[in-house]
Amino acid sequence: MKSRIGPNGVHLFDRLSGLNVLLDELRPKEAAWSSSPRQVSIALTNVCDLHCGYCYAPKHKASLRTGQVLGWLKELDTEGCLGIGFGGGEPTLHSDFVDICKRAAGETQLAVTFTTHGHRLTPQLVEHLKGSIHFARISVDGVGRTYEKQRGKQFASLLRGMESIATLSPFGINIVVNECTVTELDAISELAQKVGASELLLLPQQATTVVASIDEVVGRALQDWVTNYRGKVRLAVSEAGAAGLPTCDPLPDERGLQAYAHIDASGMLRASSYSPVGAKIVDAGVLSALKQLRNTFEIKRERQS
Ligand code: SF4
Repeated sequence: MKSRIGPNGVHLFDRLSGLNVLLDELRPKEAAWSSSPRQVSIALTNVCDLHCGYCYAPKHKASLRTGQVLGWLKELDTEGCLGIGFGGGEPTLHSDFVDICKRAAGETQLAVTFTTHGHRLTPQLVEHLKGSIHFARISVDGVGRTYEKQRGKQFASLLRGMESIATLSPFGINIVVNECTVTELDAISELAQKVGASELLLLPQQATTVVASIDEVVGRALQDWVTNYRGKVRLAVSEAGAAGLPTCDPLPDERGLQAYAHIDASGMLRASSYSPVGAKIVDAGVLSALKQLRNTFEIKRERQS
């Protein structure tokens, strides 16, 4: 098991089973805390072959280089990061996607996950990825016609993608919750159970330059649905969309950049993919960029107080 030290104790994690153990009787001093965020998401590329209206991925062409990514992963691994999630754009469109996943799993102790729209998961790709992925996420925004309207792709093709992903690793379903999908949460949770997903991740729609955040009506409908949910597949929610929902956080003191950071396809480190503030990762490495980003937030806080 990999261990990580933080304000809530010593956290042990097994990437093969997904088992987490927190030794909260131990409260190591701050100087001993792991300096990496617990989880880091990495947009390997901005390129995507879909055109979803609510997409938050930047539209300029950018992709990360394999050597660059591997260097950052090794640094994060050494400094106590537990897992990385590749995304995009569509990460499977990165020309070195398979190699990056294989080397990330083989050369680090990180849990390797990725998020995909699912339409490129051919049996050959899945075969190449086997053994290198610890958890996969597939985006399912609505069922049937709703999905097709949101994503511009056939729902039948998504179902084939889900069949493929189920043979690769444990997997979860992501859903952007908005006025079109909130009424389909029952259908999606039933689908999640049927296809063997182990998690349903709710992503209440965030504002982009094209779409607004969910309004009060959708927010209330989501709250009611979660409160009355009796399904078997466990629910999770994005931190940005968690307000008003009943959540359980076993690591309440591990916050902000201690818990999570995002690296975009231009090599900027950010607090999240939506954050306008970032620090460029240069030769000094990802931990140096993290320090710079923390300083930026610190200066901002001081100016505001
Ligand atoms: S599949 Fe994802 S990255 Fe691609 S356009 Fe849709 S939301 Fe954006």
